[in-house]
Amino acid sequence: MWRVTALSLFPEMFPGPLGESLAGKALKEGVWQLSAVDIRRFAADRHRTVDDAPFGGGAGMVMKPDVLSAAIEAVAVPGLPKLLLSPRGAPFTQARARQLAEGPGVVLVCGRFEGVDERVIEAHALEEVSVGDFVLSGGEVAAMAVMDCCVRLLPGVMGAAESASEESFEDGLLEYPHYTRPASWTGPDGIERRVPEVLLSGHHGKVAEWRMTRREEITRRRRPDLWARRRTATETEEK
Ligand code: SAH
Repeated sequence: MWRVTALSLFPEMFPGPLGESLAGKALKEGVWQLSAVDIRRFAADRHRTVDDAPFGGGAGMVMKPDVLSAAIEAVAVPGLPKLLLSPRGAPFTQARARQLAEGPGVVLVCGRFEGVDERVIEAHALEEVSVGDFVLSGGEVAAMAVMDCCVRLLPGVMGAAESASEESFEDGLLEYPHYTRPASWTGPDGIERRVPEVLLSGHHGKVAEWRMTRREEITRRRRPDLWARRRTATETEEK
């Protein structure tokens, strides 16, 4: 069973959206297990203080190292990766999600306020990961994104086994456009839009070729960074 422990000041936020749909079903079936642990439980003083003012001044509060460290120690298991959600972390990727999904599970530390005392990150060798170049008010929503991404990769969670392999990012390309019935549809702008003819042809080779061309076009246009990386990768392979 794949095990997630989320350390948070708001454990009641979990499982939240992960209690529904694919992930929720897998959770009920015991494919994965989630425990949300309240960091405040590890505060020793009468007021259960978890944060303090930053040394050097400045706005906001910082999560105290002693309290957070005690929480991490209480849940850490040797061999279980420990991630800290953080906007300055390495971008979380599909490749990292695959690695995590193949392992025993993960500990996810959710920051709040201005973030956590740097020494906890060092002492526990926390892997800082970011879910995007924007700032959330806390790590919980980011942790849910990480969990969601990993859980859908666990064996038996997604319907068709192959449905992950052609998706965006799996091979460095974004996905091709999807169409379903009706084959002709008129939208609110009064324009009739027909499904590309090749998709109705039943010719699997042509369909695959069309989809690959669309993937390449979309990636080149929308994500020149991914496109450049893919070019470099193919060139290295050819050498
Ligand atoms: N002062 C910080 C932002 C703190 S936001 C800075 O300027 O970088 C509070 C918490 O939300 C963070 O500790 C982190 O756990 C979480 N968080 C915010 N944005 C995030 C992102 N893009 N990815 C992952 N976690 C994020």
